[in-house]
Formats: sequence, structure tokens, C-alpha cells
Amino acid sequence: MIEIIIVWQLCKSVGRIVREKGRKAIGWQFMTVGLWLGGEIAGAVVGAVISGGEGASLYVLALVGAAGGGALAYVIAKSLPPLNESVEQEMSDTACESCGEPLEAFVRACPMCGEPVG
Ligand SMILES: [Zn+2]
Repeated sequence: MIEIIIVWQLCKSVGRIVREKGRKAIGWQFMTVGLWLGGEIAGAVVGAVISGGEGASLYVLALVGAAGGGALAYVIAKSLPPLNESVEQEMSDTACESCGEPLEAFVRACPMCGEPVG
């Protein structure tokens, strides 16, 4: 039962992270659940092989695998680049002082006239 709560919270965190990057949450939340279950099954298989199908190590390794899968989903969500929409918003903030060309954030020189930026 505690697992369902943890997965639920994890999905909410992943959803919040990807929405901040202008992405739809649902696909990444499915991925989170998939990685969690995949990790749990993989951990259970490893645990079954080690323990011969009995004992606590099966359950413990299943939980470790699930936590690993969940952590992987979180890391993937964190490392996603933002979608273009937010990049375009950054672009509109700056323009070349020399020719007025809108500039991408963090460029060092104007692509139109070569004027150094900043
Ligand atoms: Zn320019």
C-alpha cells in the first residue's frame, strides 16, 4: 500500500518538473510508473535467483529495484531540456543593440551583423 502512495507522489513530482519545461505530464508519468514496475520486476527476478525463491531478499531487492526505477524516472524528468516555447520567450527579451535583430539567450555575438553581445 505504501508503494502506491510513493509512486503517486513521484508521478506528481515528475509531472510538476516536466510541466515547468512546457511539456505534457501524462506521458512522463506513464514512464515513471513503467520504470518503477520494471525495476520492481527486475529486482524481484534477481532476488528470486539469489534466494532460490524464498526469504526476504526477494522482497527487499524488488523494493530496491523499484526505487532505482523511480529515481531514474526522476533524473530523466530533471534532465529534460525545455521545449521551444520557453526558449522563444527568452529570445524576445533581448535584441541586438546595433541592428535590432532578436537574439537567443546566451549568444555572444549577433548572427546578423556580428556585433558582440553584452
Ligand atoms: Zn546585430
